[in-house]
Amino acid sequence: MIKTRGYAAQDASSPLAPFDFERRDPGPQDVVIQILNCGVCHSDLHQARNEWSNTLYPSVPGHEIVGRVTAVGGEVTRFKVGDLAGVGCMVDSCQHCPSCAEGLEQYCEQGFVATYNGRGPGSENTYGGYSQTIVVKDAFVLKIRHDADQIAAVAPLLCAGITTYSPLRHWGVGPGTRVGVVGLGGLGHMAVKLAHAMGAEVTLFTTSPGKQADGQRLGADTVVISKDKAQMDAQRGRFDFILNTVAAPHRLDDYLQLLKRDGTMTLVGAPAEPHPAPQVFNLIFRRRQIAGSLIGGIQETQEMLDFCADHGIVSDIELISMKEINAAYERMLKGDVKYRFVIDMATLTTDSQ
Ligand code: NAP
Ligand code: ZN
Repeated sequence: MIKTRGYAAQDASSPLAPFDFERRDPGPQDVVIQILNCGVCHSDLHQARNEWSNTLYPSVPGHEIVGRVTAVGGEVTRFKVGDLAGVGCMVDSCQHCPSCAEGLEQYCEQGFVATYNGRGPGSENTYGGYSQTIVVKDAFVLKIRHDADQIAAVAPLLCAGITTYSPLRHWGVGPGTRVGVVGLGGLGHMAVKLAHAMGAEVTLFTTSPGKQADGQRLGADTVVISKDKAQMDAQRGRFDFILNTVAAPHRLDDYLQLLKRDGTMTLVGAPAEPHPAPQVFNLIFRRRQIAGSLIGGIQETQEMLDFCADHGIVSDIELISMKEINAAYERMLKGDVKYRFVIDMATLTTDSQ
């Protein structure tokens, strides 16, 4: 077994704190990764605090993992020691159901094994990327083509990047489409960058007037302050597609009214409490749709990483030390992140001694 230090929540109300545990010894298909950086997703906070009522404790969050390969099993051909590698939200799936066969492991009919709070091979709780080392089956490890000095800013692509890339692709966003992005946080800022790079006309909806200039810098053609009724009314009936990344319950009707006929609003934000039910009339009169989308498959995650490498796209990050994680969660709750916290994992060793 490989001794590993991580940061864990022991229950829903305690701050995260150092936690020692063991990773399995690598099997023939396993890749051992020394974690250099891990992004901080709002899902980590939801999970650590049991906001989705399914947390297994101790909980070591983290599913935006980048690092260096330190060992590979005998059957691994895609990675060698010294390679940069990434791990996202999944570490296994059944690999034979119709969804897995189509490369949509996130919709595995047996349920995929989540990087943390999943059920590992011996049905033990999985521990995520707020840790020094991880051992992952090679089929779930991603290749990174960005320069090594960009690696910290690549980490958020493994969840925030793919969770926005996948629905933008699935709903055919490109030149000639008018796209709205709701919420400028970790997911939202990636959605703005990606939709802009795909050639769409992008409008950002934010509750934070202070994010206007950033929205434009990141690629939005227009920024709308969603609390301003006149600004919202001016956008009615204009959008082909809206990607809603908001992490809290809010009135969906405010955005449904902005869709064209046959337009779709896809929800990726996963608040702990339900949104107020939308007005059916906002759907039936223009045949509008509300949809949902979950992360993305492994092949599509690789496609997204390559797309970002080709277009010079990384996340805008604030690098933090491991011990700053609890303060970072509080700032995330206030929408005060520009635009993703990423942990420098080297500080895990120095901070927790
Ligand atoms: P985040 O960085 O905290 O960003 C969320 C943004 O939503 C905030 O920056 C804020 O943007 C806006 N917002 C927050 N509270 C709001 C409120 N009460 N009313 C209106 N807007 C509000 O979070 P994230 O990491 O991007 O994650 C967003 C959500 O997606 C979380 O619920 C997370 O669990 C979920 N998620 C889902 C998937 C999936 O596969 N579907 C994957 C990853 C994450 P403004 O300041 O611009 O308004
Ligand atoms: Zn995430």
